[in-house]
Amino acid sequence: MSRALWLLALLWMPVKTSAQLVALDSSVQGHYLGEHLSVWVDESRNAQLLQVMQQRNWEPVREAIPNFGHTSSVFWFRLEVQAGQEPASWVLVNSNPLIDFFDVYGVSEDGETVSHYAGGAQRETRDREIRHRFDVIPVHMGEHSILTYYIRLESQHSVQLPLMLWSLEGFIAWDELTSILTSVMLGSLFIMLLYNLFLYTTLRDPIYLAYIGSVFGFMMLQVSLKGFGLRFLWPGQFEVSAVSVFVSAYATIFFATTFASRFMRLKERQFRFVMFVDAVRWSALACAVLVYVLPDIMRMYMMVFLGILAATMGFIAIFTYYSPDDRPIKIFTAGWIVLLIGVLLFLLNRLGVVSVNVWTEQTMSVGSVIEMILFSMALGDRINSEKEQKLKAKAALLHSLNAEREEKQRILLSEETARKAKEKTLQIQRDANQRLEQEIEERTTELRQATEALTLMVQRDPLTGTYNRHHFNESMQSKFMQACENHSELCLMMVDVDHFKSINDRYGHLAGDRCLIQVSNVLKNLLQGAEADLWRFGGEEFAVIMENCTLNEAEALAEHMRSSLEATSFAHAIGPRHITVSIGVAAAVPRRNQRPEHLVDLADQALYEAKRNGRNRVCLYQAEGDQNFA
Ligand code: GH3
Ligand code: MG
Ligand code: MG
Repeated sequence: MSRALWLLALLWMPVKTSAQLVALDSSVQGHYLGEHLSVWVDESRNAQLLQVMQQRNWEPVREAIPNFGHTSSVFWFRLEVQAGQEPASWVLVNSNPLIDFFDVYGVSEDGETVSHYAGGAQRETRDREIRHRFDVIPVHMGEHSILTYYIRLESQHSVQLPLMLWSLEGFIAWDELTSILTSVMLGSLFIMLLYNLFLYTTLRDPIYLAYIGSVFGFMMLQVSLKGFGLRFLWPGQFEVSAVSVFVSAYATIFFATTFASRFMRLKERQFRFVMFVDAVRWSALACAVLVYVLPDIMRMYMMVFLGILAATMGFIAIFTYYSPDDRPIKIFTAGWIVLLIGVLLFLLNRLGVVSVNVWTEQTMSVGSVIEMILFSMALGDRINSEKEQKLKAKAALLHSLNAEREEKQRILLSEETARKAKEKTLQIQRDANQRLEQEIEERTTELRQATEALTLMVQRDPLTGTYNRHHFNESMQSKFMQACENHSELCLMMVDVDHFKSINDRYGHLAGDRCLIQVSNVLKNLLQGAEADLWRFGGEEFAVIMENCTLNEAEALAEHMRSSLEATSFAHAIGPRHITVSIGVAAAVPRRNQRPEHLVDLADQALYEAKRNGRNRVCLYQAEGDQNFA
């Protein structure tokens, strides 16, 4: 069914061969005149007006804005204007400032050229009646009721002819409105630019530069597209005018993709097509720089190609990383959708696929501002969430640092405890050592004392306390040697208690002991002060050694001892009985070849002499020369 309708439409279209003429009344104002235009394409590019006027194969234009996309042909349009009822000043307006050469010839009914307007971006505006960013051509009807306008259009941009008829007042009002809207848009963009530039100076994040670049590129694109560039920014600079749209569009693509790529962190996230995105970015930059060397035809197609690729990459990235919890990416997505619609509309329009009218144009302007605001918001939100993340990371770091510090303190504490324990152990060891040393010292002292006691015990006679026989032998030896060295005389007395056996027998051994103790005490007392010592030689026998003393002196002492003992009462020990002693005395100056035992033997002989002679007496051993002692 729909196919049949389509075919019917195709059949009907060619029937309409010529466009209707347009009357100059108020109803025509504000409408694009496409439907009133006929078009003829001059492939040769050099047809003259007369030739054109004679053409038969004019085609009617079916859109409000004729759009033939990018083409190298020269286009001729024909418009028939009928004078209106009210006498008023009218203007014919071409609101596409990107036409390089724009010629309008007014031809009367009798074929006479009554006016010629030479405009377009590549021509000076100085000679024009009305100087405006658009081509504004006054309509001089004069006496004529119908004027035919032949419009020649030559451009390296897409061939679009948004043509309108306005009364002068109507045009001024419309122009005022569109200028204000455009200014508001540019002003808003400029504010966004300044705001983000300010943010960049404080935050130093290059993403702001990318954003600023894309806003600036977009602004320049708008300025070029709407004719403000050639009119105000680079008046008369046709070369600049020829490329400004492309440079701005390429720069916008470069900065917008850089911004999006950084915003979505495509590199860090290792986006699958990141190489592709980079290729688009750098190609756009290369095209912007090399626009002069690009062939005319390439400028347009590269712009469309890169623009569509960039927008598509953006969508793939959004699709990959979109998350409902991520507020910045949600805002970014909204902005990107608005941008994509704008880009598609713009590019399709440039290619001649889609035509726009005065309202869609304004909607696009508002959309672009919204999109830039959304991007700026997304950026702010991202910075905020990054800040939050940083704060969180900082808090986590602080937490882990605290934990580490606590752990360190714990380790230090345990180390301190270990150190103290070690010190305590050492102290205990030291104390133990000290105690041990003390004990050793005590034991050593005890041992020394014991040894001393033992030595004493070894030297002393346990019953009487006098030196014993063992000690006598040692003393005799040393005194003998000394006397030998000094050549001095040495005396020995042997004291024996008389009939002691009978005392034992009669009074018992204990009484005998007491008796012996008393004898030794008496002798000790007698020997005090004299150079003589007392030994218990054995049994009831005592020995006395005297140094540096003559035999006579010894005899006197022995006699004194004997008489003293005889006079001593032993009543306490053995009752009323007295005891007596016999004493043998021997003296000699010892010589080296002699032994001490000889002196003992001599004293013994003297003692036996005393016994033999009746006891209780002192006998001297009288040596006859040296021979007896030898
Ligand atoms: P003499 O006059 O010839 O010396 O006669 P004596 O009895 O003294 O001599 P004798 O050698 O016959 O006897 C010595 C006695 O001394 C014999 C012994 O029992 C006694 N005696 C020796 N040592 C001790 C002692 O330590 N204590 C007592 N109670 N008697 C002792
Ligand atoms: Mg005896
Ligand atoms: Mg005796």
